[in-house]
Amino acid sequence: MRVYLDNNATTLVDPHVFAEMEPYFVQKYGNPNSLHSFASETHPGLKDAMEKIYAGIHAPKEDSVVITSCATESNNWVFKSIYFEYILTGRKNHIIVSEVEHPSVIATAKFIESMGCKVTYLPINHEGLVDPQTVRDSITSKTALVSVMWANNETGAIFPVEEIGAICAEHNVLFHTDAVQAIGKIPVDVQSFNVDYLTFSAHKFHGPKGVGGLYMKKGRELSPLLHGGSQMGGYRSGTLNVAGIVGMGKAMEQAIDALDFEMTDVREMRDAFEDELLKIPDTFVVTPREKRTPNTILISFRGIEGESMLWDLNRAGIGASTGSACASEDLESNPVMEAIGAEADLAHTAVRFSLSRYTTQEELDYTIEVVRKAVERLRGISSSYAYAPEGHKSGLDTHH
Ligand code: PLP
Repeated sequence: MRVYLDNNATTLVDPHVFAEMEPYFVQKYGNPNSLHSFASETHPGLKDAMEKIYAGIHAPKEDSVVITSCATESNNWVFKSIYFEYILTGRKNHIIVSEVEHPSVIATAKFIESMGCKVTYLPINHEGLVDPQTVRDSITSKTALVSVMWANNETGAIFPVEEIGAICAEHNVLFHTDAVQAIGKIPVDVQSFNVDYLTFSAHKFHGPKGVGGLYMKKGRELSPLLHGGSQMGGYRSGTLNVAGIVGMGKAMEQAIDALDFEMTDVREMRDAFEDELLKIPDTFVVTPREKRTPNTILISFRGIEGESMLWDLNRAGIGASTGSACASEDLESNPVMEAIGAEADLAHTAVRFSLSRYTTQEELDYTIEVVRKAVERLRGISSSYAYAPEGHKSGLDTHH
């Protein structure tokens, strides 16, 4: 049996999405910006897709959604635009991010830090959450941007973006949120709270890879990263990824239709699966369930290297993760576990299971069996587990 439980890394393309995209490869392949019927026959599909994307995040017509190649591009764009518009011009000199943002935010923040901008990295608390008070305390008159993700890719922790957005509005500071892990898992409505920029990516909600978006509220600035033709109103040049945009539109529509299912059925399956995992002694989950996206579990098995567990799972046909796929080639401890102050022996033990609406009960039952056997085998050969002092083997007392 093969079981895919790495849906926070990427998802399978929904067959309806794929069917909708297919005509745009060999039939309707015109460049939308050309002046003939090959071009114009792409227009209805593009228009329809853009309407679905606007509807999916409740963006009003007067706001902008620009299509990018991925969330990494969208995140880079916001930060580099802020750098050009505010930092380089001397208007402001400070930005604020959480310390557990995706590498596409952290690395970009570090880059503009190296160019002279001050950056505050907000800590997370013992539940893996950002406390809005830390945002309030960090804002100065020179702060240009606060960027805090909506949902964390590792733990699934849902951050208080409504409160953070309100604090930003109060202080006249721009607010960006990376909503990559929120779309299709929890309701996303850009009109329901204060947000200036919002990032998303199709392949995280059963759309194709290589297409993402950046929402921008009316009146906000964005300096182009890619200069060239007049596509996307001149904001982002480059021939439109027609099939990708059509696919993202359909995927957005499907994700919104499936939201209730995700928040009830997927959540119930996740919770039952988590209950079974927690029956294994010396296991530990960071963020409380009700404060997490419905599909995610980041769990530590004391005494077991996360990578060893992945190895056993993979041999049994199960795909999981130790955290962000972008960081998984270096065998460093999980940054979220480090941020919450977990001891070194726990920090290396985190394994992430992320479900989707395609996950079945049968797959989870099989996974539980495999995990149980793997825990037994790996703890049997683990010197750190075998020699852990009594009482040190049992859960929460060893982290702060
Ligand atoms: N932001 C978050 C929270 C993510 O989980 C990811 C993907 O792992 C990204 C950004 C990057 O997305 P993309 O692959 O579209 O660049």
